[in-house]
Amino acid sequence: MSFDEKCFYCSKNKDLDSLMIKICDLNVSTVYLFKEQTYNGRCNVVYKEHKSEITDLTEDEAAAFINDVRKAAKAIHKALNPDKINYGAFADTMKHLHIHIVPKYKGGPSWGKTFDMNPAKTFLSEEEYEKLIVNIKNNL
Ligand SMILES: [Zn+2]
Repeated sequence: MSFDEKCFYCSKNKDLDSLMIKICDLNVSTVYLFKEQTYNGRCNVVYKEHKSEITDLTEDEAAAFINDVRKAAKAIHKALNPDKINYGAFADTMKHLHIHIVPKYKGGPSWGKTFDMNPAKTFLSEEEYEKLIVNIKNNL
């Protein structure tokens, strides 16, 4: 297993907790709810090991990872009925493979444009996070 203690996805430290809440583990990844919820239902699917690029995975590992992304996106479609989901894989500085799953709604924030990485303006109550997580989990 590739592991980097300086990486918050590996160490699962308070920096990770400040940004995301774990929803569940899937086959080769962990799904997190992004605390910043400008895009209702925004999640992050994080690969189980510290790998930088999807090209660092074998064909089978990459297929399993993309299938986890597909599964999470399908649950979000069922739970929240967005008009489109955007997928983002950047990680220039945080080199741990992850894909942002960003639901978009017609007329909503950034519709027709690239989503903002961290608008830092929409946060929910603990109860609202829990409700959203249960809704997504029930559709996984
Ligand atoms: Zn890592």
